[in-house]
Amino acid sequence: MLTSQLGFTPALAVLSVGEDPASRSYVAGIRRACDRVGITCRQIELPYTTSEAELRAEIGELNAERMVCGVLATLPLPPHLPLATLADTLSPDKDIDGITPTNAGRLALGWPTFAPNTPAGGMEIMRRYGISIAGKHAVVVGRSGIVGRPMAMMLLNADATVTICHRNTANLAEIVRTADIVVTAAGRARLITGAMLKPGTTVIDFGINFPEWAGSKMVGDVDYASALPIAGAITPVPGGTGPVTNMMLMRNTLAAARMLLGDA
Ligand code: ADP
Repeated sequence: MLTSQLGFTPALAVLSVGEDPASRSYVAGIRRACDRVGITCRQIELPYTTSEAELRAEIGELNAERMVCGVLATLPLPPHLPLATLADTLSPDKDIDGITPTNAGRLALGWPTFAPNTPAGGMEIMRRYGISIAGKHAVVVGRSGIVGRPMAMMLLNADATVTICHRNTANLAEIVRTADIVVTAAGRARLITGAMLKPGTTVIDFGINFPEWAGSKMVGDVDYASALPIAGAITPVPGGTGPVTNMMLMRNTLAAARMLLGDA
């Protein structure tokens, strides 16, 4: 149906460099989402030893290929490949995960753009559950380029008062206690507990951790059991923000396909 609507079948290129078990299940989920909506998922797996020049050449080819509407790179890249090499080479028109300086800059300026899918999913969850953001104090814990920072920008663009915390923040508990909305993307299990939350607060947990004490099961950054009775709304891990991420990716890829047709 998508093909008949657009007149062609859009392709999403998913680029991985080196083997990474976490990426493998992420890519499997993307493939299933693509199948469901009628997007061709083109998986590109480059060896760990790929050089910067080879990575640039591969991205250059994807930039030039007409059927490829979007390019998603699974992170992290091997340490010898700077993320900037990828982000500076990728065409912003195909950057459906918002990693290029152009799209990140547009988001920071509050202009329309492709926003990173993970934080976009968090915003979508709050929209769907009718959680108002304007005028609220939102505290984002984590400042990575792909989750914490863009989430802070999206909340700011939605008229929240935003505080960004990170590993050098001195009084995390005190700041979190003043939040109407708490967003975590720190990669540390039990970083936020119920005792740190203002009653009724909204909690969006992007954390993905597999601590030994949980029997290596997946948990977020928030101690769910202690937070649940205090929070007004809370996303569980797994099953909270994760499943929405891929839907945002599909939405951005379709938007890129329409842009390619010039009717956006
Ligand atoms: P992700 O890709 O999930 O956003 P990163 O590992 O790239 O995760 O970034 C982790 C972020 O979490 C960093 O910005 C770091 O400052 C923050 N962080 C890590 N540990 C703590 C902590 N104990 N308290 C507050 N922030 C933390």
